[in-house]
Parts: sequence; C-alpha cells; structure tokens
Amino acid sequence: MAYKLGKRSQQKLEGVDERMQSVVRYAISVTKQDFSVICGLRTRKQQEALVAKGASKTMKSKHLDGHAVDLMAYLDGSGDRWELNLYDEIADAMAEGARAIDIPMRWGAAWHIDDIRKWKGASHTYELRNGKDVTKHYSSSMEDAMSYYIDLRRSEDRLPFIDAPHFELVV
Ligand SMILES: [Zn+2]
Repeated sequence: MAYKLGKRSQQKLEGVDERMQSVVRYAISVTKQDFSVICGLRTRKQQEALVAKGASKTMKSKHLDGHAVDLMAYLDGSGDRWELNLYDEIADAMAEGARAIDIPMRWGAAWHIDDIRKWKGASHTYELRNGKDVTKHYSSSMEDAMSYYIDLRRSEDRLPFIDAPHFELVV
C-alpha cells in the first residue's frame, strides 16, 4: 500500500529544506494515510496575505525559511479531507521519517512536544474542578500526542491551537 507524491506535491516541495523534503518522501512511502503537500515555501507576500485573512497568526512562519510543510489527507474517491482523525496517521509517518532522516520535527497538533522523534507517551495527573486528581496515560502514537496537547491546554483554560497539516523542522 505504498503511496507516491503526485506532481503538484513535488512542485510544492521545491525550495523546501532538503532534509524536510527527505522526511516527506520517507513518510509517503510508509504512511497508512495518503496525503499531498499543499504548502511548502512561502514568500513574505503570501504570508502577509494569509495573516491579513486570519489564516495564519505569524510573520515568523517557518514556511518563510522553507522549514515547514503542510500535508493534506487524501482519500481515494473523495479527494482532500480535513477530518482530524486522518492526520495522526500522517504524523506517525512523519515521526518515522524524522527518525530515519535524523532531524528534530514539530507537529502543529502537538506543539508542546519539541521533537516528535522522541515522543514515547506520557502520564499526566490533572486536578479536576472538584479538587480530585485524575491521571491519564498517553501512548506513543501521535493520536495520543495530540490528545495530550489538547488536555494540557484545557487544564490551563487555554484553547488548543490545532494545525494538523503543519510540520516544521526544529533547527
Ligand atoms: Zn503550515
């Protein structure tokens, strides 16, 4: 069930850091969920337009340095898909790629993990509003990495910022 990058995805990788390109190429060869590259390198103008639209929050985007890619889930027969549960499979493949290429990588649905290569799961104790403690266990999957991020933010009364298509090099 090995997938391949399409022509448009190849084009979107142009100008992106070669280590990131290698990770993406590795990921597409092992992923259980097909994906396409929808964004790689951005110009300042493109980034300014995205910030103006509210589609991005920062002018310090890693896309400006070619250190980030956005990967979109693709389902045969129905095309591009946004459902969040398709993205943790892509993230698992990207984590595997980051380990194979040996480069630190961050995922936009688990910002609290500096390097998804090293994510091995965790246990965390939360204090509930009624004063009781509850301990949750998270496995080494990227699905659980995202759950952990969401739970952490909620426990701090902060909204999680989920950008599941986004991966960036930590360099
Ligand atoms: Zn992005």
